[in-house]
Amino acid sequence: MTVLYKSTQETEQLVTASQAILQGMAADGGLFVPAEFPTFDFDFEEWKELDYQEVAFRIMHVFLPDFTDQELQEAIKNAYDEKFETADIAPVVKKGEQYFLELFHGPTLAFKDLALSLLPYLMVTAMKKNNIKREIVILTATSGDTGKAAMEAFADVPNTKIIVFYPKDGVSKIQEKQMLTQKGENTFVVAIEGNFDDAQTKVKELLNDQELAKEMYARNKQFSSANSINIGRLVPQIVYYVYAYSQLVKKGEIQSGEKIDVCVPTGNFGNILAGFYAKKIGLPIDHLICASNQNHVLTDFFQTGNYNKKRPFYVTTSPSMDILVSSNLERLLFQLSDENADQTREWMQQLKTKNSFSLPTKMQEKWTDFEAGFATEEETKGAIFQRFKETGYVIDPHTAVAVHVAHQFVNDRAQLIVSTASPYKFPKTVVEALTAKKSTGNDFVAVDELNKITGLAIPQAVSTLKGATEKEKISFSVSQMKQVVRQVLELDK
Ligand SMILES: *Cc1c(COP(=O)(O)O)cnc(C)c1O
Repeated sequence: MTVLYKSTQETEQLVTASQAILQGMAADGGLFVPAEFPTFDFDFEEWKELDYQEVAFRIMHVFLPDFTDQELQEAIKNAYDEKFETADIAPVVKKGEQYFLELFHGPTLAFKDLALSLLPYLMVTAMKKNNIKREIVILTATSGDTGKAAMEAFADVPNTKIIVFYPKDGVSKIQEKQMLTQKGENTFVVAIEGNFDDAQTKVKELLNDQELAKEMYARNKQFSSANSINIGRLVPQIVYYVYAYSQLVKKGEIQSGEKIDVCVPTGNFGNILAGFYAKKIGLPIDHLICASNQNHVLTDFFQTGNYNKKRPFYVTTSPSMDILVSSNLERLLFQLSDENADQTREWMQQLKTKNSFSLPTKMQEKWTDFEAGFATEEETKGAIFQRFKETGYVIDPHTAVAVHVAHQFVNDRAQLIVSTASPYKFPKTVVEALTAKKSTGNDFVAVDELNKITGLAIPQAVSTLKGATEKEKISFSVSQMKQVVRQVLELDK
């Protein structure tokens, strides 16, 4: 079976994996999904002996069949190398009764590195494969982590440019500094007066702007996306679920074939969707637990079947999850409606025009793969404090949200918590949680405090950041985003 891709909003036309990656999203406004899911006959006695790169190859080789084995191996080798602090790339550790899948040992200290280290290689190869000589312009909205990881990955990659939009007051100081110190002639970062949802909505609009696309073509350029709307982000994320499960078997923590629960701190629904895809291809996952922060639109949705984005937006201590329009939910809805593109389009339309949509009860009853819960700001800090007190393990605020929510769903299955960022990326919040005192210094003072309190080694990416010179922060309104893009690309010259 060869995996091809189709849109969630129009299923007639099939494209290859490389075309789906290049386009970022479908021209009809939908998102690309596998036209048919492959199934793996996992023999974990064998898989447990594979290293991360080998697992990556075996999964991606099936999902991206128009890439040659050599192209994939080359990409994997370049993506998962010494820029990760641990040789096993995605270690699984046991702390207390829970298992943590640590996805933050890459260059930007958040899980986005796992997919984004690879994406430029996939994109460049896809360009060659489709005989495209145009420059690829990556438009990216970020809630804090994607932007840096994407710029880091695309910096100085020939024939590419990347423009990142982040919410002006919606990211941590360390996140912002990471972005403003980015090197690379082809990277551009812009703050916008709005939140992530505003940025993402506009980016999607620009990606779909046919007039703009024509102008771009005339100048030998084309857009793509590094957000998880790009299937090239999701496929590499399936890998670590398979790897983590295999490691649990290897360590003797579970029997091969035994079902586990996975709890994922969720924003744009990309990470947890990759977990759902892992389940679909045969990984023994029972429940996927969707953990949200104070912006718990998804918890409400899973509990009531009603998605309503018209609600207050909170800036929280887990900023990468401050999202009210979770793009990848569209892919889940498509599955849930038995791949009904008309139905999916209608829900998305309602969300746009009426701010909400509801699932019929019958469909809600099919909803057995997911659980959902949320953590308040207090509960998030409480989880950081408790985890450290009980086990000496330090977690970041996003992971803490998942830890809190996972407690609501304890049963006799093993629980795997997806740990999405290093605590050093959010040092003030973590210090405040551990000391119950307001942290008054800047983020780098908090880094040292955190090190003193916990003894946890400071990652190199943080220590080098301290002395780095920042670019000037420039900010624009959302309505100016198109003009910014035109300027960066010199379309008016
Ligand atoms: C992006 C991000 C999330 C949310 O992941 P989604 O795929 O958007 O659901 C959670 N935690 C951290 C640290 C992140 O950077």
